[in-house]
Amino acid sequence: MAASNLNNTEAPLQKDLDKCVHCGLCLNACPTYRELGVEMDSPRGRIYQMVQITTGQAEMSQTYVDHMDLCLACRACETACPSGVQYGKLIEAARAHIEDNRPRPLPIRLFRWFIFGQLLQTRWMLALAGAGLYLYQLSGLQKFVRSSGILKPFGKLAEIESLSPNAEVPFFFSQIGKTFPAEGSRKYKVAFLAGCIQNVTFSRLNEATVRVLQKNGCEVHIPGAQGCCGALHVHSGRKEDARKLARNNIDAILDGGFDAIISNTGGCGSTLKEYHELLETDEKYHDRALEWVKKMRDVNEFLGSIELNTNMGPMPMTVTYQDSCHLAHGQKVRVGPRKLLAAVPQLNFKEMPMSDLCCGSAGIYNVVQSEMAGQLLKNKMGYVNGTGAEVIVASNPGCMLQLDAGARLHGKGQRVMHVVQVLDEAYAKFKS
Ligand code: SF4
Ligand code: SF4
Repeated sequence: MAASNLNNTEAPLQKDLDKCVHCGLCLNACPTYRELGVEMDSPRGRIYQMVQITTGQAEMSQTYVDHMDLCLACRACETACPSGVQYGKLIEAARAHIEDNRPRPLPIRLFRWFIFGQLLQTRWMLALAGAGLYLYQLSGLQKFVRSSGILKPFGKLAEIESLSPNAEVPFFFSQIGKTFPAEGSRKYKVAFLAGCIQNVTFSRLNEATVRVLQKNGCEVHIPGAQGCCGALHVHSGRKEDARKLARNNIDAILDGGFDAIISNTGGCGSTLKEYHELLETDEKYHDRALEWVKKMRDVNEFLGSIELNTNMGPMPMTVTYQDSCHLAHGQKVRVGPRKLLAAVPQLNFKEMPMSDLCCGSAGIYNVVQSEMAGQLLKNKMGYVNGTGAEVIVASNPGCMLQLDAGARLHGKGQRVMHVVQVLDEAYAKFKS
């Protein structure tokens, strides 16, 4: 298939591909290359294949799709690259290019249509799915399914079930549209992005985030018309869906006069900070997207940049920190979370080796590429166990779910917490 036969609207740009000088300095940072030792599953190999496709030297074969699908989009190669290759941009474009040119089998298309086009974009559907999950867990059915191993013959289904998050009632949807006053004098007026699935499965984390921001002088607004950020859509090649969601969020929040727009999710934050790239060719929204990006902050980044309220009680526990790929490699936020943990009294911090190597979560990667994800998780838990930490701290709900499964399957039952949950508990223990 020649390049001229392809719809190249979303294809990786030659100028971006040309930045790669094939030095191979990124190879060791790449989780899939480290596991398989296969050049075509390395960043350099994947870029080479993208060049072959965009120049028409090779067909967009299933093999090409498989190599692109096996990439975690973790962007560790971006950190390692001395030539400034924006690999995240390339893999997102390559996936959108595939989406435009190679229809997937019907059941997969239907699955993707339902997840990306319906479920993630519709509050009532998320609430309904959350209610179903809650009943499944409350009725004891989940306990039975897990202890009996009844799903084992169904392979994939058993793996998906083992990763299912807890539904947390009441769902955070009930807080959307509300404003929470600052504790003490108001220093900042901020907007909080509550996510999509997170409203159902991480309701307590969202509540903790609001409380911690309030403790730090923030008046916290949760704008009512906000929605899913589009990160999962971008990572899966569904850029038009993501653009629609980006425009919606910009219209819902940008004109509210906020000092900052805050996300507590590394993976979402990375896409939210790249709305200007997503809307690059949108004349009406590009300038507004640039304004948006100036205000976007990860919660760790925001709290790490202000004078932190240190009225915290003791948290005598040993913790280690797993960098979220999109927070560390995408947003370059590494110091903030460690600085916040260092401020907690009696907390014993143990850095683990390779803390910024992907745990295998990567959006829905652990569901669709469960074999590779499982191996990466097993490796990760080896590093975690070596620290002797009883708590694994992270900054991304997806990583938290994956690490929670890791603690059950390969670990020592470690507790998994978000940085803001550690702060929230420390604030609650403060005695004046
Ligand atoms: S994004 Fe991650 S998995 Fe993909 S090529 Fe880069 S380092 Fe490897
Ligand atoms: S992506 Fe960067 S580090 Fe990797 S081969 Fe290309 S230039 Fe070298």
